[in-house]
Amino acid sequence: MNRKKKHWYQYLWIWSILYFALGFFNILFAWLGMIDFILPLIFAIVGGNKWFCNNMCGRGQLFWVLGRDLKCSRRKPAPKWLSSKWFRYGFLAFFLTMFGNMVFQTYLVFSGAESLKKAIKLFWTFKVPWHWAYNGSIFPDWVAKFGFGFYSLMLTSTLIGLIVMVLYRERTWCTFCPMGTMTQGICQLKNKEK
Ligand code: SF4
Repeated sequence: MNRKKKHWYQYLWIWSILYFALGFFNILFAWLGMIDFILPLIFAIVGGNKWFCNNMCGRGQLFWVLGRDLKCSRRKPAPKWLSSKWFRYGFLAFFLTMFGNMVFQTYLVFSGAESLKKAIKLFWTFKVPWHWAYNGSIFPDWVAKFGFGFYSLMLTSTLIGLIVMVLYRERTWCTFCPMGTMTQGICQLKNKEK
């Protein structure tokens, strides 16, 4: 049987699981998620391509492994509006607003206007105590505050992705993922320039 050799980056779905496990025990590890924010943008801006999405995204791979390999997905077509332009860009705008709000909340702790609360927020609404994940460090409190906020964002988006994975196709999340929308927009602009 001629099986194609797998590259190391095809196992990054393991990193996706590890990321949440590490953040469960120490919220400072949440910062590592910034790699998943910055790398796709670098690929899109420098290379004008979605190589990250197609090859390196641990989250996308995780949906595939759970949905396709472990058969956790119904593999039904998603409603069309989920991949419509207005929804994708609307969700991107919402996501960026929430990201901005998280940075502002970090600033409040940085400036001393607010104290650090050891909790995460799921679906931008439900506060969940997470006090075991931080017992002080050599870093100032705002560093941990960003960690709690970023972990909330990463966990919320993964949960949404898992829900749509179960209900529809394996990688339905990718049709409206804010990173995917952003990198696609950048690639379109870049390719227009040529
Ligand atoms: S669209 Fe989002 S989740 Fe899907 S592969 Fe790209 S970055 Fe990953």
